[in-house]
Amino acid sequence: METLLRILANPWKLLILGYAWHVLRYVLMAGSAYLVFYVLFRRRLLRRKIQAVFPPFSQMRREVLYSLLSFVMFSLIGLLTLVLFRLGWSRLYFNIPSRGWGYFWFSALVLIVLHDAWFYWTHRLMHWRPLFPIVHSVHHLSHNPTPWAAFAFHPIEALVQAIVFPLVAIVVPVHPLAVGLWLFYMTFMNVAGHLGYEFLPRGFASHRVLRWHNTPLHHNMHHRHVRCNYGLYFNLWDRLMGTNHPHYEEEYEQCTAGGPLPGHVAHEPGHPHSPAASIASAQADG
Ligand SMILES: [Zn+2]
Ligand SMILES: [Zn+2]
Repeated sequence: METLLRILANPWKLLILGYAWHVLRYVLMAGSAYLVFYVLFRRRLLRRKIQAVFPPFSQMRREVLYSLLSFVMFSLIGLLTLVLFRLGWSRLYFNIPSRGWGYFWFSALVLIVLHDAWFYWTHRLMHWRPLFPIVHSVHHLSHNPTPWAAFAFHPIEALVQAIVFPLVAIVVPVHPLAVGLWLFYMTFMNVAGHLGYEFLPRGFASHRVLRWHNTPLHHNMHHRHVRCNYGLYFNLWDRLMGTNHPHYEEEYEQCTAGGPLPGHVAHEPGHPHSPAASIASAQADG
């Protein structure tokens, strides 16, 4: 507690520590996903690859650089939250037993549910024609994203996504550990959505209960078709607003059946049967 308050007293220390924490989480989670799916088990998992081709190194370099830039914005917003706390406007608290563990888990869930709604509506706003080229086209440069694209945002988009934290903390008392859980889940879902592979089991997207949670294919379709599948964690807002891709569940079943998706037969680059036409059609939609 004392150490925490000492760190909070030094904005530079907080900025550097915040940045290191974001980068570490990203490198560990996106890096291990990349290692497993793109290096170690690349061939064995090929039948679960969503799009036919493996993206070039230059794309991954761009995804990493934009992600590292996003964490600067995330760290600045962390600092802003501290300023609000010191001014008495933010309801961060540092003693879990004071509110109990029940409240602790509830507050983490509130953060996730509110961020899900915030993400869906701000994402739709960023697809509005006058805004798209300025704030969101950077993210859509990846038509066939890799795990490194998890935070490949324009700095304004990174700011819009991060600002939800101090906004929630003004109203809802949150412990830094609950914020940590939320960030962990956010990173997991961002990495999964850009993984390029569908790892969830058959029937997930049409299951009575499970279909309310998003899948890697769901966000991959957003990168291919652009004007659909805007949600992050849950498949709630897309279902309510009718913005799910009409063939989402159908494509999910094809992808998880082990059979190739129509026009998305997975092959190693340079494979003699690599379907160039299907790749072109996948890129053209985006
Ligand atoms: Zn988008
Ligand atoms: Zn994306």
